[in-house]
Amino acid sequence: MSASIVAGGETRLQVLISRQQIAAAVERLAVEVRRDYRDVSPLLVGVLRGAFVFLADLVRALEMPLTLDFVRMASYGTGTETSGKPRIVHGLRSPVKGRHLLVVEDIVDTGLTTRFLLDYLGAKGAASVKLCALLSKPARRQVDVPIHYLGFTVPDRFVVGYGLDFAQQYRYLPDVCVLEGAGVP
Ligand code: 5GP
Repeated sequence: MSASIVAGGETRLQVLISRQQIAAAVERLAVEVRRDYRDVSPLLVGVLRGAFVFLADLVRALEMPLTLDFVRMASYGTGTETSGKPRIVHGLRSPVKGRHLLVVEDIVDTGLTTRFLLDYLGAKGAASVKLCALLSKPARRQVDVPIHYLGFTVPDRFVVGYGLDFAQQYRYLPDVCVLEGAGVP
């Protein structure tokens, strides 16, 4: 894929983080997670939908005993601004008490969604709750969120690909791309 991709109409995609860079980051994160959780089988909590590609690559790189579950948060929908009031649309089905949880997120932007989720999971009696995020956009942060394992810091641009969408499009792109054009923040 070329560095610049014409997405159609007035919309333009520019590769920000290549698939090779992502693969290297996934390997690096897997080494860190494996080291920290070598004595326990963590419960990985994937945040739908954006984290699904990252999570799939991460669990295969981890090659260690673990269990998986998913939560789905109320999202931006087809709009682009957070409501500021995150809520859980689909909660965990697995027992959490006493478990070591590793939340796997696509991107931490304002931090509101992740902060809410970490507090919610912590209140359920988990032994520990940590966060692994592929991307962080610190320029937009409104609340403090501890990211224990981070892939990349990104500038204040709207990104898609590798699971991340705009109006449910572009999730299939293998690279993380900046999306520009009409209607894009
Ligand atoms: P926060 O609550 O941190 O503002 O937002 C978290 C969620 O907003 C992310 O999980 C993601 O779904 C969405 N989001 C924030 N920034 C971006 C972005 O640049 N691109 C995409 N596709 N989604 C984003």
